[in-house]
Amino acid sequence: MKKFSVKTRIAVWLSLLMALLSILLLSFMLVISNSVATETAMSQLSYTMQENISQISLRDGRLSLGKRFRFFKRNVRTIIYNENEKLLAGRMPVSFSEEEPFQNGLTRTVFTEEDTYLVLDLCLCLQWKDRIWVRCLIKAPDTQETTQNLLIVMMFTLPVFLILSAFGSYWIARQAFRPLESITATAKAITESQDLSRRIGLPPGRDEFSRLAKTFDQLFERLEQAFETEKQFTADASHELRTPVSIIKGACEYAQKYDETPQDQQESIAMIYRQTLKISRIISQLLHMTRLEQGTEQSLFEYVALDQLMQNLCAEQFYEPNRLIVEMRKTVVFANPSLLSRLIQNLIENAFKYGKPNGCVWVSACKTDQEVLIQVKDDGIGIPLDQQDKIWQRFYQIDPAHSSEAGTGLGLSMVLQIAKVHNGTMSLESTPGEGSTFTLHLPAL
Ligand code: ADP
Repeated sequence: MKKFSVKTRIAVWLSLLMALLSILLLSFMLVISNSVATETAMSQLSYTMQENISQISLRDGRLSLGKRFRFFKRNVRTIIYNENEKLLAGRMPVSFSEEEPFQNGLTRTVFTEEDTYLVLDLCLCLQWKDRIWVRCLIKAPDTQETTQNLLIVMMFTLPVFLILSAFGSYWIARQAFRPLESITATAKAITESQDLSRRIGLPPGRDEFSRLAKTFDQLFERLEQAFETEKQFTADASHELRTPVSIIKGACEYAQKYDETPQDQQESIAMIYRQTLKISRIISQLLHMTRLEQGTEQSLFEYVALDQLMQNLCAEQFYEPNRLIVEMRKTVVFANPSLLSRLIQNLIENAFKYGKPNGCVWVSACKTDQEVLIQVKDDGIGIPLDQQDKIWQRFYQIDPAHSSEAGTGLGLSMVLQIAKVHNGTMSLESTPGEGSTFTLHLPAL
């Protein structure tokens, strides 16, 4: 059975079930119809007996039968015997035995060689000493014949019924399983064409298949996202790591050939060390961003007091106290504390990097009705208007020469991503030569 499709199996099981149910129903009907027929025959018997005995009397010592007396009525035969069980009036069916003993007031079944009868005897006392026996009998309903007829009907109708129900069940199963076909076809197409952008796209509904299709679509979406992130990571890593790796390679080759004095070697080692730091920074930032995109770093949200968060950050990063001016009100936000401090840390580092030499950086937080604003301000080189949109892109650097050693071009794109994770946005106000203010807008609690 396992070789067959689920549709065929459902059709077979349903047809067998239908056949079983119809046999049960017919047997039940047979039993009921037989007992109803017997009940009807018995009530005909007793009713006819009652009608006929009301018409029997003795007149001048002789038996007198009224006008409505009938020896054969409603298939019931009535026979009258005297007290000594000698026939007075009426005719016995040929197959019925004369010897059948009388039993007063009891309806019973009597089997003869040819037929089966229901028999009711009644002893009537017409005058104080004259008694007669009245016997009523009716042929018992032929249950065997009914059963046979029903079996014949079943023999012809059941196969037709089975075939019809098999086709019907198969059709119903096919209709019901159609969405599943679509799910299978889409999954197959995705596997064959490796096109993760395809979706099943069943119309929304509350049935099991719609929910399954929706879950599969979500799964495909997630897979596509993960695949894209991985692709992006590989592309970014191979592109951005190429420069420091080739610098290291060049430095090593140069050192092998030309570095003669220990001082030359120290310089080469320092250069290699700086490039190694850069590689490690790129890798760790890319990993953080990938985790953010995949949602693995988003779960640990809690209520965060911003002044406390800033205190912890300053304690960890050892910023020069008189260059970093912090103005944090007691504001609470719902955030992932480590992501939020990474965002602020990136902005502060940029502010120092691109600020005036020995200049100051201001960090502040304030609250409006709808938003909590966290600002990082510097009085440094500023950003030209036409660059202000581009700096959020991955690896974008306005002046790579200025930031090539320390910067990776990933800091702000991570800042933007962290803001999005918090349902927030970033804005920038900057004037070249005067400085920049980066603002994080978070929804107020
Ligand atoms: P990087 O590692 O190069 O700093 P970021 O993504 O943090 O990368 O910044 C992207 C670019 O935006 C930087 O290369 C720099 O040119 C510019 N930038 C970022 N912050 C500032 C700032 N506070 N003042 C001026 N320019 C900035």
